[in-house]
Amino acid sequence: HPLLQVRDLRVQIGERTVLESVSLDVAAGSLIVLMGANGSGKSTLGMALAGHPNYHVTGGQALLAGQDLLALEAHERARAGLFVSFQSPPDIPGVKNNLFIRTALNAQREARGEEPLDAFDFLASAKQSAQALGLPQAMLGRPVNEGFSGGERKRNELLQLSLLKPRVALLDEIDSGMDVDGVRAVVTLLARLRSEGVGVVVISHYLQMIEQLEPDSVLRLDAGRIAETGDVELARSIAQTGFVRPREAVEA
Ligand code: ADP
Ligand code: MG
Ligand code: MG
Repeated sequence: HPLLQVRDLRVQIGERTVLESVSLDVAAGSLIVLMGANGSGKSTLGMALAGHPNYHVTGGQALLAGQDLLALEAHERARAGLFVSFQSPPDIPGVKNNLFIRTALNAQREARGEEPLDAFDFLASAKQSAQALGLPQAMLGRPVNEGFSGGERKRNELLQLSLLKPRVALLDEIDSGMDVDGVRAVVTLLARLRSEGVGVVVISHYLQMIEQLEPDSVLRLDAGRIAETGDVELARSIAQTGFVRPREAVEA
């Protein structure tokens, strides 16, 4: 079965049902682009899958490699191999970046029955990944995201992704606030992760990046459901004509 299988997922924030019934599959090594108008619930999907307490799943299923994600606590979902990069990555004051990532990585290794990485080996690979992503090494020793610019936060998310090697990664508007080199780093990293079998969901409207990502499918979220499924042509048509879709185009 697919690595991530979401079936008829229904999500409420407070009293309001934001996602009515969302279904999608992410196969190993595949990349799906999720598009949708502002407020259509794209971030809600990521938050709900990550297990954020304000996003209440009131129906449906989500399986990660056959395991019931919804039965797990947020940190257990991450350990099981789900990586969600948020639209606005938060600060974690007082916790150094390198320790934060090493702790997460070793929790994940433990869950897989692997030996923990020691500080020395970890630092060597962290430095290498930071360099590949154009992040100054000094950022490894700073508190997570504290004083980081928008683009640096996004690159820092990529650093975590690169070192954690999850089974499935969902990246929410990872291109926003990133410069051209940052976007190129996203494309390169995601191509590598896919070749290693990671399944990827990218929320973005940036057509130039979407084209470079060579997605397997492009989905459009509307009114709490996947309203349309297509390939990169769907992304091109949304970029040209927006989300108010002519009826013929939707039915074609
Ligand atoms: P998108 O990412 O597609 O722009 P979101 O998932 O962020 O959309 O938001 C979906 C809807 O849920 C929006 O109408 C938004 O205003 C609402 N929403 C999101 N977060 C909250 C919250 N914490 N409290 C109340 N409503 C929220
Ligand atoms: Mg938004
Ligand atoms: Mg959003």
